[in-house]
Amino acid sequence: MKKYLLPILLISLIFIGCTKTKVQSEDGNTDQRIETIISEMSLEEKVGQMTQITLSHLLKQDENGVIEPFKLDTARLKEAIVNYNIGSILNCGGHANSLEKWNEIISTIQDMAINDTRLQIPILYGIDAIHGANYTQNATLFPQQIAQAATWDPNISKNIGTITAYETRASGIPWTFSPVLGLGRQLSWPRFWETFGEDVYLTTIMGQALTEGYQGTKLSSDSTKIAVCLKHFVGYSQPNSGKDRTPASIPERELREYFLQPFEKAIKAGGNTVMLNSGEINGVPVHASKFIITDLLKQELNFNGLVVTDWADIKYLHDRHKVASTQKEAVRVSVNAGIDMSMVPEDYTFHKYLVELVKEGKVSKDRINDAVKRILRIKIKLGLFEKPVTHYSDYPQFASEEFSLFNLHAAEEAITLLKNRNQLLPLDKNQKVLVTGPTANSMTALNGGWSYNWQGDETDKYIEAHHTILEAIQHKIGTNNVFYIPGSGFNETKNLQRVLDASKKADQIVLCLGEDAYCEKPGDINDLYIPEAQKELALAAASTGKPVTLLLIEGRPRLISQFEKEMDAVVMGYLPGNRGGDAIANILFGDVNPSGKLPFTYPRFPNALEKYDHKHTENLGDGKDNASFNPQYEFGDGLSYTNFSYSNLQLSDTIMEENEEIEVMVKVTNKGKLKGKETIMLFISDHYSSITPSVKRLKKFKKVPVDPGKSRTVDFTISKEDLEFVGSDNKWKTEKGRFTVSIENLNKEFILK
Ligand code: BGC
Repeated sequence: MKKYLLPILLISLIFIGCTKTKVQSEDGNTDQRIETIISEMSLEEKVGQMTQITLSHLLKQDENGVIEPFKLDTARLKEAIVNYNIGSILNCGGHANSLEKWNEIISTIQDMAINDTRLQIPILYGIDAIHGANYTQNATLFPQQIAQAATWDPNISKNIGTITAYETRASGIPWTFSPVLGLGRQLSWPRFWETFGEDVYLTTIMGQALTEGYQGTKLSSDSTKIAVCLKHFVGYSQPNSGKDRTPASIPERELREYFLQPFEKAIKAGGNTVMLNSGEINGVPVHASKFIITDLLKQELNFNGLVVTDWADIKYLHDRHKVASTQKEAVRVSVNAGIDMSMVPEDYTFHKYLVELVKEGKVSKDRINDAVKRILRIKIKLGLFEKPVTHYSDYPQFASEEFSLFNLHAAEEAITLLKNRNQLLPLDKNQKVLVTGPTANSMTALNGGWSYNWQGDETDKYIEAHHTILEAIQHKIGTNNVFYIPGSGFNETKNLQRVLDASKKADQIVLCLGEDAYCEKPGDINDLYIPEAQKELALAAASTGKPVTLLLIEGRPRLISQFEKEMDAVVMGYLPGNRGGDAIANILFGDVNPSGKLPFTYPRFPNALEKYDHKHTENLGDGKDNASFNPQYEFGDGLSYTNFSYSNLQLSDTIMEENEEIEVMVKVTNKGKLKGKETIMLFISDHYSSITPSVKRLKKFKKVPVDPGKSRTVDFTISKEDLEFVGSDNKWKTEKGRFTVSIENLNKEFILK
């Protein structure tokens, strides 16, 4: 570490000394400051600002690619920063870097941008810090978003955002490509786990909280905060086929009622940048859609921040989507549709074509100025002109015990107990346990993608300090009480006989199934069922007659209906991050009472993928037949080691007049002997409306602790806004009539006048 300290100090001093760039005005008026800078810029410099290049392209390379351990290539860097005046750089160069390495990279880049360019505009460096500063070695890696949603506690996401921002800034980086605000309603989509699950309201609340955690209230004066990038605008999570970046068909009415809301609220919460959906909706690639980028996002949602493309997506308008017959045409279409920055990210063709297009009058100067203003605005907001590099020595809490303990807490709040036949759990610490299955001894599986590298498949290399599930169980009950037989790989059967033999010595079997790390396209699947090899292992474990606890570590609900009945207990671990193993052991052995709740509907069959907020026609059966809504587990399911009962649901009024609110109260009682936490979920059902109503929609929730034998009254306020839907004219509206409020098994009606 020391060897970098002196140069770093010198560089920092240079920056402190050179805060007066040629174009800087000090009156603090951002708009005026932007105008001053723009007035001095050439067309080439402006288009440079709109260009984003990936770090790998700026590293020393040979014929096999980047030479490791990688080094910045001065000539390539000069080409990017001095010749093309690029505005932004992204990514990590292929794998997680140490804090020192990050500092060296960012300092060198900013040094060149400030000292060697005419206008001295700092580079906006962006990274996918999506569950912690996951491209920095030793950073705190949290549960992925789907697990955060299972906590049903927005404060957890807010704190995750706060710590991630701190550790990302410790790495010198001011911008994250997070949160994902798409809805997880397409279960086989390989980015399902990057979402907050299937519900609009839960996604909106958690997304807002994470945004607030990352950004705080004043970015420019708080160098522990980072700018968010709300992604992927809009409808990306809903490909018809379930495969990544394949066509989606989403009627505008549904786009507005479901997919737009989380973005709208996160923008209101201060979301400063937005990344676009790489896919197409109704035959139009989003990167070519003026309707989505300009009309909807910039005008209707009043978004005055920066819109960045996703990876190479302008090129793909030509190469893949085939809506532009040349690359230059792709640039024209996309810039005119409203993109502000192109994640090119490996050459300067965007720059070349866009300069030509402006000179030919095919893209207006105003459009360019609009884009550059948005880019400069975020650079100013982030305080980059004043402080282009943050230094890790100012972040003493990086990877602290305190952060790690919070990480453990977050994972414990997420883990969801879905089944507990005969109260098998918690397990007795004095019993002998056979641990088996492909996710049992893997930090890679616990973290999933975007961990230390893009696919997250090298995690085991980086992690010594943390426990896999197996290690955590050994730690908890002693190595002598634990037998471990892998039993199967993710897709291939291993020696099942060894599992059968080992089970004879064991009192309990903990069966760890699920998925290995993946992300984006490489995570596409053809079959939602859990792979055959794992099913065989489950059936073998069940055949031993020993009680089996199934632990699922997976990024999407792989179907388990072929053997679920044979399982005595089922625990959903999602992708719980670096402390996931410890959190699971704490729950399995009763040191922590589980309180997670499922943020999506876990299906039983591949052709029965209805959501909790399905329409009445999707559940016309008798509860068991094929016309019935009969998932494996329902949205909101999650057991505790204690029991809660609900009573006294009351409404302050049975009539809601225009502009009036109704108070809803309900009493929750902990009937068991253990302290526990319960998430109270309030649903509203519209009895009749001109657009077929859902059977119910989540409108409020609150997670509260309740002591054994005690009760708590929880209250909510509902207003007309909670009764709105998007009508056939694509506008939000309410219709008078009867509504039902339901909480758990209780319900009450009221009338909207
Ligand atoms: C992903 C984005 C990500 C970007 C930069 C793309 O492939 O779709 O979510 O932010 O890469 O890494």
